[in-house]
This record gives sequence, C-alpha cells and structure tokens, in this order.
Amino acid sequence: MSVAHRFVLRGGTIHDPATRRDGVVDDVWVEDGKIVPPPADATGFPPIDAAGLVVMPGGVDLHSHVAGPKVNAGRRIAPHLARSRPAAVPAIHATGGLYAALGYTTVFDAAIATAAAPIAHAELAELPILDKGIYLLAADDADTLDALAARDGPRCEALLAAKVRAGRGWAVKVANPGGPSFWKRGRRGDHHDLDTPLPDRQVTPRQILERLARAVRALGLPHPLHVHTANLGLPGNWRTMLETMRTFDGLPAHLAHVQFHSYSGGDLDEGSFGSGVAPLVDHFNAHENLTLDVGQILFGDTVAMTGDSAAAEHLAHATGVPWMAHDLHLEGGCGVLPIAYRERSLIHAWQWAIGLEWFLTATDPWRVALSTDHPNGAHFTAYPVLMQLLADEAFRREALARIHPAVRARSPLAGIRREYSLQELCIVTRAAPARIAGLAHKGHLGPGADADVTLYRPHRDLARMFSLPAKVFKAGILVAEDGQVRTLPEGATLTA
Ligand SMILES: [Zn+2]
Repeated sequence: MSVAHRFVLRGGTIHDPATRRDGVVDDVWVEDGKIVPPPADATGFPPIDAAGLVVMPGGVDLHSHVAGPKVNAGRRIAPHLARSRPAAVPAIHATGGLYAALGYTTVFDAAIATAAAPIAHAELAELPILDKGIYLLAADDADTLDALAARDGPRCEALLAAKVRAGRGWAVKVANPGGPSFWKRGRRGDHHDLDTPLPDRQVTPRQILERLARAVRALGLPHPLHVHTANLGLPGNWRTMLETMRTFDGLPAHLAHVQFHSYSGGDLDEGSFGSGVAPLVDHFNAHENLTLDVGQILFGDTVAMTGDSAAAEHLAHATGVPWMAHDLHLEGGCGVLPIAYRERSLIHAWQWAIGLEWFLTATDPWRVALSTDHPNGAHFTAYPVLMQLLADEAFRREALARIHPAVRARSPLAGIRREYSLQELCIVTRAAPARIAGLAHKGHLGPGADADVTLYRPHRDLARMFSLPAKVFKAGILVAEDGQVRTLPEGATLTA
C-alpha cells in the first residue's frame, strides 16, 4: 500500500446492528480501506464532519441480476424499456454507478450458468465501484444429476467444487430443482410436486434439494445452498414452498424471492388466488436454519429474467407477451420477458401485498434480506420506496388504498401495524445480507470491516432519504455524493 489513506468520520449517528450501535453518536476511523479501532494518536486522520448524518455500512444486495446472458437477452427483448430513466436493464457500467449512488457497495448476481461464468465475469469487470460475485447454477448438468441420483456425496461435492473453482463462483444456486428435466420433455410450467421422480433419473426434486444442501455444507462454502424452488409463480405454490422448507430439516438453506412462491389458489381462477404467506412464515419463524430474500414487486414496467425457463414460458403464455428462452450448452438456460406490474391488476396487487406481508410478519430481520430480485420484481433503484413501505405505515396505507379493492379487503396487510425502525432497515439492507452471504468483512462498521460506509441526511420522507445518500465510501474512497458519482474505482470479485 502506498500512502496510507486515513480519515475519521466525526460525530455521525451510527446504525451498526452487528456492533449493537443503534443511533449512537460515534466516530468511524478508516485506514487503508478498512475500519480501524480509534487510534491512540489521531494525528494524520483528517476529520470529515458527519454530525447530524445517519451512518450505516454500505448496502449489500445478495440477490440481483446484473450480468450474463439473461441480462443481455433482457435488453434485447425489451428495447422500449431502455428509454426509461434509469433503463430497466441498465448497461453494466451504469449499474455500478446507480448502485453506488444509492449507498450500495456489494452485489451478487444470483443465477449464472456455469458455462456462462466467463462471460459474466468479463461483464462484471466493467461494473465499477462495487465488490461483486456470482452464484453458479452448478447442478443442472448430467454429471451432477447422476451423482445426486446415485447418492454419491463425495462425487457431487467434487463436481460442485470444480465448478465453483472454474467459474470463480461465490455460492451454488439451484433454480427449479429437476424442473429442466420435466420441461425438456414437454411439460410446461405446470405443477409438479417435490416427490415425483425426474423423467430420466431415479431422483426427486426433494432429494436434489436435500443432497445439494448437504454437499454445499460439506464444502464449507460461505453461503448455504441458494434455493429457487419449483413452481415459481404458480397459484397454490405455497405448498411447494412449505415442503421445500421442511426438506432442509435443520440444514442451512437460503430461500430466494419467496414472494414468487407464496400463492394460494388452485389455478389462475382470480377468485381463489391469494396469499399463502401465513403458514410459511410460521414455519420460517420457527426454523433458524433458513434465511430468505423477498423478491418484492413494485408497480411499473420491468423485465423478468430467470434461470427457470419453464416458469418464464408459463408466465409468457398467461400474459400473452413474447418471451425468449436462452439455452446454454444444454446445461442450463434462462427465460426472459417484459412485464408491467399494475396496481389495479388483482394478481399484481396480490404479489405486492404478499411480499410486504413476508417482510412484516417474519420476526427476525437477521434472516431476511431486502430485494426486488432486480429486475424481476422491480428495479433496484426502487429500494428506497420499499424501505419507506416497511418503515412508514401511513405511506403504506396510502399505497394500499390504490391497489385492487379485492386485495385490500382480503390481504392481512391492512391489519399489520408494524413499522421497521432505522436499525431494522439497516439489518435487512446490509447487516443481514452480508451475514447470510457469508461476508465477514461487510455489513458492519467494526474494526477489520471494509470501509464501505453510507451517510444519509435524516428526512421524514424515507424514500427520499435513502435514495440520495449524502456520501458513500467504498473501501475508504468517496465514490458518490448527493446522488452524483465522484469516481469509479474497480471493485473486487468475491470468490469462494
Ligand atoms: Zn433472481
């Protein structure tokens, strides 16, 4: 390291759940990109006045889609959304600046086919400022499925390890376990339970989930198996999610975008569609081996992109929009389609209410990560609006008044009074996702942490406060101020 880069953030109001500081006035000492203990001699640490500002660790997005073939397919299929500001699927370079201006300093792309990992890394090298990593869809290939079917744990672990190494991955993701086998043999995104053997192997989706979670734990990867379970988006899929949770029976597992997996109802009969959150959240609250991200939807135009091509095909047929499937060496793929979430749509209003119901009834924020499954549920730049919906009941009530009346009448949301505190917002946007992802040096402001720090100007309008941080530091470098990017340092690639 050349000249030591040192400074002290003086007198800010610290929110740092990991060190149990909840709104205390304190200083943050930074040296060479790291947080350090208060030095005996403060000379050489020029002060930066943080008095009156809220100080939090930099935001960590543990489930987003910013690189790789599906993102590029998204740009192709929805060119009209390139004109929105920001673009629905921003260019990779813009993505870094937009995240940083929002106070985020780390992002994971949650679904990269192993064959596409080199492309994704080449693109992510162009994503400035943020530290970034990828979750590999490492279990869709024939060899791994054979090892899973043969209950050959060591072989499965060896295959996963080789892929994580070769693909420079951070975690292993499974999308629609076994689903591609059903889908490739002509079954559209119709319901299948977790206990029907795959058409081509003696293994069930439940066994795939359980054996993969075991293998990931045995490998000691920082993040547990990242699970996008079967039947995404289908009415009645809360049962699949409940069975998925039960499958792990004490094994660590992370449940992705639970909002898309929490629907009641038998079919797309609009009268029976609704929330299946209550039994799921009861199970989740009682089982500490499980963590989740919500995949909140917010109203507006976006592009859906998923490693689960079957789900994309089903959704495209249900909504009548063109869609695109992208195959990757027969080992994985993705489905992509434009989508417009409308307040007056019964289904979309339910999705919105279901996501918020998850956030507001899950009792332990340390096991919950804020996400919109960008861009599937909404653009990541909408996070501040989501934060206000969680923390400001009056704001939520106004939003509730605009949605489809049947949902307003039937969703439990109207009766939920809970408001997230600033500390809880800090947990679900940085402390918890860092801990869940297994990033020991992020999501907190204790000594040894990366000096990723966001300073906010307190404001009653929380969406405004969180969308325009006063200052954002990444590894001790001032990267954004008042929504303007100041400099574009390179971030690190996080590999397991
Ligand atoms: Zn996703």
